[in-house]
Amino acid sequence: MNGSGFPIPSGPLVRRLNRQVSVRHGGRTVLIGGAAPVMVQSMTNTDTADVIGTAIQVKELARAGSEVVRITVNSPEAAAAVPAIREQLDKMGVDVPLVGDFHYNGHQLLSAYPACAEALSKYRINPGNVGQGAKRDTQFAQMIEVACKFDKPVRIGVNWGSLDQSLLARVMDENASRAEPWSAQAVMYEALVTSALESAQRAESLGMPGDRIVLSCKVSGVQDLIAVYRELARRCDYPLHLGLTEAGMGSKGIVASTAAIGVLLQEGIGDTIRVSLTPEPGGDRTREVIVAQEILQTMGLRKFTPMVIACPGCGRTTSTVFQELADRIQSYLREQMQVWKTAYPGVEEMNVAVMGCIVNGPGESKHAHIGISLPGTGESPAAPVFVDGQKTVTLRGERIAEEFQAIVLDYVKTRYGRN
Ligand code: SF4
Repeated sequence: MNGSGFPIPSGPLVRRLNRQVSVRHGGRTVLIGGAAPVMVQSMTNTDTADVIGTAIQVKELARAGSEVVRITVNSPEAAAAVPAIREQLDKMGVDVPLVGDFHYNGHQLLSAYPACAEALSKYRINPGNVGQGAKRDTQFAQMIEVACKFDKPVRIGVNWGSLDQSLLARVMDENASRAEPWSAQAVMYEALVTSALESAQRAESLGMPGDRIVLSCKVSGVQDLIAVYRELARRCDYPLHLGLTEAGMGSKGIVASTAAIGVLLQEGIGDTIRVSLTPEPGGDRTREVIVAQEILQTMGLRKFTPMVIACPGCGRTTSTVFQELADRIQSYLREQMQVWKTAYPGVEEMNVAVMGCIVNGPGESKHAHIGISLPGTGESPAAPVFVDGQKTVTLRGERIAEEFQAIVLDYVKTRYGRN
């Protein structure tokens, strides 16, 4: 209970202060962990050997707000292309750090292509497929040695789809000797967490500083992810990368990711997030970045873009005008942010309400920085506009959308422009 007499949530219950890892490219440094804001990242789905196609997608993801971008490095051709991708991005003025995603042959590629190792800002290592038997330790060590040589941080990214089978067998054996054996689910959780922690300890024993290591343990079920990360957070202070693996398509992927990531963030767990959406055919890869930003912004953890508050509509308005206006304004605000974020600092905190009728329209509009209440069915064809809680003008006619957009732009210039 606070002084106002009502218990007001103030974001995460306890923000964990993990170690902090820095990811660098050129003059840009992105921080993960410590007191840094939760960072948004994404991954390309182009063939990395396609230099131009990959550079363009990285640029799109970075422009959408991805603070680092991961690319797969799965073949000699892909490894050879990495320095050219980096060069192309630098030429385009895109300084987003690149992370290389390695599986199976990472030790060979990082050793054989030092320019690739140098151009990347961070390596993702999956301890479940770094090698089998005796080769596993040697090949893992080779990757860590390259990371140390080039002073690159790593993410030790465990995934339940590629869990180290020998480690799982060991954890199962240990379980069998318990007086009261755990459930198969608990054994799986333990194996995931153990794989991440033992790999991190091994990396440190090979000379990698503890503040160059990020951990993740990805699964595809919401409750599984929450359980695994609670335990991982309890047992270490490495920064944690959160995300469901294979979250799925469309609304299912968004809802599942939001539910899992939201619960953990609210508990103060998680230092960087990725929303692994399966793109719809022809869909835009940047959607995963927008969803990640919206999770953080709607939870009150970060601010990226002015938010549009829109009502869902109901039988009181059969017009689609307010839906089209809400969509238009949201797209307009997002597009403008490329310029506005430097020209109008603080604009990302702005709220704009677009409402469908008189029931909640004027009230919600007054709570926003700018709001418009469109006429519902049977109401007179007029749309009052509210600025900072005061009604300023009533719009009518065919050009309501253009005029409202102009009012929004004028407000941004006046309120957030540097004098
Ligand atoms: S503001 Fe009006 S149109 Fe929108 S949901 Fe409420 S009652 Fe329906």
